[in-house]
Amino acid sequence: MNRKPIFAANWKMNKGASETEDFIKSFLSKLQGHDFPCEIVIAPPFISLPKLADLLHTATAGQNAHAIQIAAQNCSQYDAGAYTGEVSVVMLREFFVHFVILGHSERRAIFGETDAIINAKMKKAREANLKPIFCIGETLAEREGGNLERVLRTQVTEGLKGLTEKDMAESVIAYEPVWAIGTGVTATSQQAQDAHAFVRSLVADLYGAETAARIRIQYGGSVKPNNAAELMACPDIDGALIGGAALEPQSFLEIIRNGTIPAAE
Ligand code: PEP
Repeated sequence: MNRKPIFAANWKMNKGASETEDFIKSFLSKLQGHDFPCEIVIAPPFISLPKLADLLHTATAGQNAHAIQIAAQNCSQYDAGAYTGEVSVVMLREFFVHFVILGHSERRAIFGETDAIINAKMKKAREANLKPIFCIGETLAEREGGNLERVLRTQVTEGLKGLTEKDMAESVIAYEPVWAIGTGVTATSQQAQDAHAFVRSLVADLYGAETAARIRIQYGGSVKPNNAAELMACPDIDGALIGGAALEPQSFLEIIRNGTIPAAE
């Protein structure tokens, strides 16, 4: 199955509007002349979404601008009303947001998001036709305790409950071992490939072989320019979700370039 890789920058709580503008101007000029065989997505903080939308979707944007799609880092599971501090999927749509990262390990660990909450957000995102980037992954203790498969099975089964095959066709999964996120420790390509193959088998159990063969599964966890090629060469790895190394235009570009070799120029 030919799956188009997808490289997504998760800026987390970094870059307000002016830093977003600096990044995008520099990144677009570096993209000039390249036509990488992949999708490129940037997820800024909510507050920078209008600036990003403006930079990418105004008449003055360069032709490369449309090569980049916009993601939110979260969304509310509610429609509207008395939910202080929340942002709804309808609000996101106003700013050309097409993707939304859900279930990130930081949302799970720091903000107490359970599988049930993440599942409600997945459903709400799909109602608004947003494409979820559904994050899953085990802690080091869970892996070392022999619980890797059990943890991934629970996250996948509970997080995707009630979602249809059509929803899956519009979703991306990001396998992100928690012990590799922001630590500089990357899973070996064998560890990553094994986990990805297992996640794909879980999707096959739930939705059938064709959906499983089609769904893109990104790897996330300390992806850098120097490890992107090896990770992306694994048969079940279809791109990357990148935190720290996507804060600089040059390193984000190098990850994309190295990760799409040999298919790229
Ligand atoms: C992430 O935040 O999803 C992530 C993978 O971060 P980093 O690349 O910094 O490990």
